[in-house]
Amino acid sequence: MENLIITGLSKTYSNGVKALQHVSLQIPKGMFGLLGPNGAGKSTLMRTLATLQEADSGSIQLGDLNTLEHPNELRKVLGYLPQQFGVYPTLSSEMLLNHLAVLKGIINRKERKEIVHALLHKVNLYEVRTQKLGEFSGGMKQRFGIAQALLNNPKLLIVDEPTAGLDPVERNRFYNLLSEVGEQTIVILSTHIVDDVKELCPRMAIINKGRVIIQGNPIQIMESLQGRLYEKTIHKNELEQYKKEYQVISDRLYLGRQLVHVVSDTHPGPTFKSIEANLEDVYMSQILNA
Ligand code: ADP
Repeated sequence: MENLIITGLSKTYSNGVKALQHVSLQIPKGMFGLLGPNGAGKSTLMRTLATLQEADSGSIQLGDLNTLEHPNELRKVLGYLPQQFGVYPTLSSEMLLNHLAVLKGIINRKERKEIVHALLHKVNLYEVRTQKLGEFSGGMKQRFGIAQALLNNPKLLIVDEPTAGLDPVERNRFYNLLSEVGEQTIVILSTHIVDDVKELCPRMAIINKGRVIIQGNPIQIMESLQGRLYEKTIHKNELEQYKKEYQVISDRLYLGRQLVHVVSDTHPGPTFKSIEANLEDVYMSQILNA
């Protein structure tokens, strides 16, 4: 199976923002989570992968295909769900998908109908296929977005921040759909939501300020904090002091009390409890360190 190999990709916008700085990633078949805060460079990377904008330097290889030199070849095997995915609100999902299938060159009417119906079944919208898209919920629209991205049976599917605004049930349904697609395809999921990656992605990277900070599988990545993470319940008004004295990576209220997570190479004291790291901890420690 073909891997996606990104090597030394850099992009500086004309205003001087270094959106990508020597980004290198190896991405096999399956779900790959690209996690990073707003402004990290995720969309820039996604748009470059989707051949919608150019990088200043670096290369992208999908199997034997050099995608930056042959963007048209990549487009034949690419599915893309952009961050802002607009639909025609007065059309039904069946009509719009049919229309998009024509644009993708599926000209045989019978074949097209079969493909459209199979995709509507796959994303669980077949029953509502005649309903107007404008009446769809956020989750239904996103599932429609996946259906259109799958029209050409892509080898590479790129989804940019797809779960924003979805409620937990819709989000879960969307995850299930993506991981099903990931059985046959490289799926890159860009997100700032740790939970999106945690359950779903056997491989992931964290990116911040245009750089890849860490990549691997989530379990390996969580081990990077092994033995260095501590927890303590403190009083709310002690928080500022703790932030000065310790490397506090998270503070939250838990049952009305203030809970802090602290990273430390040595035991910070008997009142701290050593704990296992979760992905949120690693993410926060990486983002705050950068
Ligand atoms: P993310 O998707 O992780 O939020 P982006 O790739 O959208 O990150 O943005 C990365 C950085 O590049 C940000 O600082 C953003 O303001 C800047 N940026 C994005 N697009 C442009 C553009 N067209 N022109 C100038 N700066 C841009």
